[in-house]
Amino acid sequence: MAQQETDQRIDSGTPVAEPGDGFVVDTEDAEARELAHRERGTSRPITVVGNPVLHKECRDVTEFGDELAALIDDMFASQHTAEGVGLAANQIGVDLKVFVYDCPDDDGVRHVGAICNPVLEELPPAERHLDDSSEGCLSVPTAYASLPRPDYAVVRGQDAQGKPVRVRGTGYFARCLQHETDHLYGYLYIDRLSKRDRKDALRQMAENTPRYETVPNP
Ligand SMILES: [Zn+2]
Repeated sequence: MAQQETDQRIDSGTPVAEPGDGFVVDTEDAEARELAHRERGTSRPITVVGNPVLHKECRDVTEFGDELAALIDDMFASQHTAEGVGLAANQIGVDLKVFVYDCPDDDGVRHVGAICNPVLEELPPAERHLDDSSEGCLSVPTAYASLPRPDYAVVRGQDAQGKPVRVRGTGYFARCLQHETDHLYGYLYIDRLSKRDRKDALRQMAENTPRYETVPNP
């Protein structure tokens, strides 16, 4: 997912992950962990809307070894180069269910991690509050559109070693968790927009030049 376009209204009061409550702690040593990943990795160009790999469900991750670790490093390197806050594997052309993130929550706390085979948990209606902030995607370069999404999200999946994990996020990080999970099932955020807003996003993309390398569409 692209960086936030502007500062946004923030509502606090949503729970934040604490050690020992069953959620992964992805806020400790965030800076050092992100740096280590991207220094081991190699940045790759980003696929854009229209590339078939972005428009179908990715394959489940079943091997949790060195190859996956190297892919995750490349994803962190690519995310950093493109100045993203989240990146799904199909955005660098790899058909596997894994995404990485480096994203602030609604308290400005930085979350860094990788999750395989993510599934978004259904929120009880009482916990479902929509936030209509603007959203952007590295695969729809330079475009932004307002899109209502729940301001709190929980994703379960596996870490890079295959251990079951749950990740939760608030604010922009909640948006990121939903956006990246969508990618791995073949959906872009513009697929959730009205016809008119989608067209406008594609127009913004056509009129501007991305600041990072992209993969030419087949
Ligand atoms: Zn995206």
